[in-house]
Amino acid sequence: MIDLSNETMIHIQKGDIEYLQFRKLLQYQDKVVHCYSLKGKNNDYAEVKQNNYASLYETIGLEKEGFTKIEYQAHSDKIEVVKTKKEIFDKIDGLITNKKGISLSLRFADCTPILFYDPVKNAIGNIHSGWKGTVQKIGQKGALKMMERYGCKKEDLLCFLGPCIEKCHFEVGEDVKKIFETTFAYLGNLENIISKGEKKEEQKYFIDTTAINRKLLEEVGIPSCHIIESNICTVCHADQMHSYRAEKEKAGRNTAIIGLK
Ligand SMILES: [Zn+2]
Repeated sequence: MIDLSNETMIHIQKGDIEYLQFRKLLQYQDKVVHCYSLKGKNNDYAEVKQNNYASLYETIGLEKEGFTKIEYQAHSDKIEVVKTKKEIFDKIDGLITNKKGISLSLRFADCTPILFYDPVKNAIGNIHSGWKGTVQKIGQKGALKMMERYGCKKEDLLCFLGPCIEKCHFEVGEDVKKIFETTFAYLGNLENIISKGEKKEEQKYFIDTTAINRKLLEEVGIPSCHIIESNICTVCHADQMHSYRAEKEKAGRNTAIIGLK
């Protein structure tokens, strides 16, 4: 196994199962459990493909009975509050809860997982932010919803931006670049976020969606030191993680799980 561990993340292997965890979030592991699953040794983790995570839950130490998931993630900005175990949602892209014993499971192939944890209110969130979700500011909306529903204070909320298609590989055409430019011009310094590609035949651009998600969280008052980035690109590591850009329709899904004990 190539160890993907870095300053913010740690790569764990247990049997056939491999996953990443945020070092900072592990400081609270007596209260909250999380992971971002990788392909693992068999290269195609069948349970995740079937959207059934029994052994993954067991490995990370969460009760399978407490799971909730979204059947179809729709690249929307819709976030639901989870109140009971085994709830199944559809056509939304974010879940939040403050109920012990409940875990939130979402699937990813290049899109950004945004996990939230408030150690004071003991509340969690899991957000699916692809480029369309990012344009709709679903990460920022997730943070605001945690503040509104659970009374989380902006200075307490910890935000984790997981592995995703980073700027090195998020190449887009003029149309998508324009959408980003128009939506985020007000944030300023877009020249660091959108870069021109070097191809001569057709002008392409590279966009840093992690930087945008960070700015959107800072915009609502989250201290920058409470926004932790994985610094791992799913396309660069497509041999170890599922990537839609790299594998097209054949791509499986990585699962990000966060649950309250
Ligand atoms: Zn990359």
